Amino acid sequence: MATEVARWSGLIKRIRLVCRNCSEEYESRLLYACPKCLGALEVKYEVSGMSKSTFESRKRSIWRYFELLPIEDPSNVVDIGSGNTPLVKADRLGEELGIRELYIKNDTLNPTFSFKDRPASVAVSKAKEFRLVAVGCASTGNLASATAAHATKAGLPCYVFMPSDVERNKILQVTQYGAEVVLVNGTYDDVNRLAHVSCDLYDVGIVNVNLRPYYVEGSKTMMLEIVEQLGWRAPEHVIVPMASGALLCALHKGLKEIEELGMVKGSTRMSGAQPEGCSPIVDAFKKGLDYVIPVERPTTLVKSLAIGMPGDGAFALKTVRQSGGVCESVSDGEALYAASLLAKTEGIFAEPGGAITVAVLKKLLEDGKVDRSEEVVCCVTGAGFKATEHISQQDVRTKLISPKIEMLNTIFAR
Ligand SMILES: *Cc1c(COP(=O)(O)O)cnc(C)c1O
Ligand SMILES: [Zn+2]
Repeated sequence: MATEVARWSGLIKRIRLVCRNCSEEYESRLLYACPKCLGALEVKYEVSGMSKSTFESRKRSIWRYFELLPIEDPSNVVDIGSGNTPLVKADRLGEELGIRELYIKNDTLNPTFSFKDRPASVAVSKAKEFRLVAVGCASTGNLASATAAHATKAGLPCYVFMPSDVERNKILQVTQYGAEVVLVNGTYDDVNRLAHVSCDLYDVGIVNVNLRPYYVEGSKTMMLEIVEQLGWRAPEHVIVPMASGALLCALHKGLKEIEELGMVKGSTRMSGAQPEGCSPIVDAFKKGLDYVIPVERPTTLVKSLAIGMPGDGAFALKTVRQSGGVCESVSDGEALYAASLLAKTEGIFAEPGGAITVAVLKKLLEDGKVDRSEEVVCCVTGAGFKATEHISQQDVRTKLISPKIEMLNTIFAR
């Protein structure tokens, strides 16, 4: 892969960091808050000579968008095959919900089974570029495996921090990549604080803390793929699960960038989904606030979205409002029902945090906030195997028989 990317390195690309708050610009380096105003930094690109066919001609991987990713030397790319996931026309689910133009961006099909492989691939590549000697993350469950898998491919030690109450399979999974797994007896916000101190004191690249401006760039490839899969057309409406709000903001940033390059026209409504037991961004949206009031104790079994103090909350609010979208929350029961419906209609087995976008779409349709003729893409961000605790015993319907031919009579109706 690295050698394939190397062949493109003749193209011109310059990256800088720009403050979201005061617009001050900085050379690209290991910096995540504006030294002047402490605002969040994001990556800005100067590229030229790009066209749709440049991207299309390359191997199907997030790295085909190399000029819009913040890595300077292609030999630093760490690739385990993230991205390039299907955009499925969901006719059966659409019929069930009463909407004609429904698509599922199926990001359960990533190397570690969640969309977090996209940002982890970019962040670990950047850690290599910065010559960092170790990486890590603060995780609600999915980022842990994504970071660990990319770290091991890069040959870097990896330290993952997560709340001790995340799903068992997510803990089992991450231990298999050989990472140092630290379970914190506290909330995600406690975990995040420890991760901040770790990178300040111990020089590690925490992918979603000190590498954050680079990390989020990986997520935007989901939108670049959606647009390309629709034949270089912006979808009318995209619904995104929100934890910190970073994914939603990144998708919108990706769309703006290819719009500026003249590759796509038209606008997309961006809507955000959260569980009722932890919905600080949705609550702020509904109250008309432009800031987010933290949720101290999340009470949801949708663990992957349980961030009480969303780092990109205010920016996500602004993005949703400017795009004409909405924020909506659903109960855990509605998220679980949506996961089951998605599996039973489209054959896609998602975790509740991934399927929550389907639950929110159902609610928005019922409330008349989405028109039944609107084209909607639901981002489904994590696989069902990662969170099996909630699958209730009544739901696991099987038949046990002795190995006798006459037993088949009890199974097939005549
Ligand atoms: C992390 C995560 C998200 C989005 O998280 P943000 O912090 O908002 O970027 C969405 N779905 C799943 C399953 C996740 O693990
Ligand atoms: Zn600033």
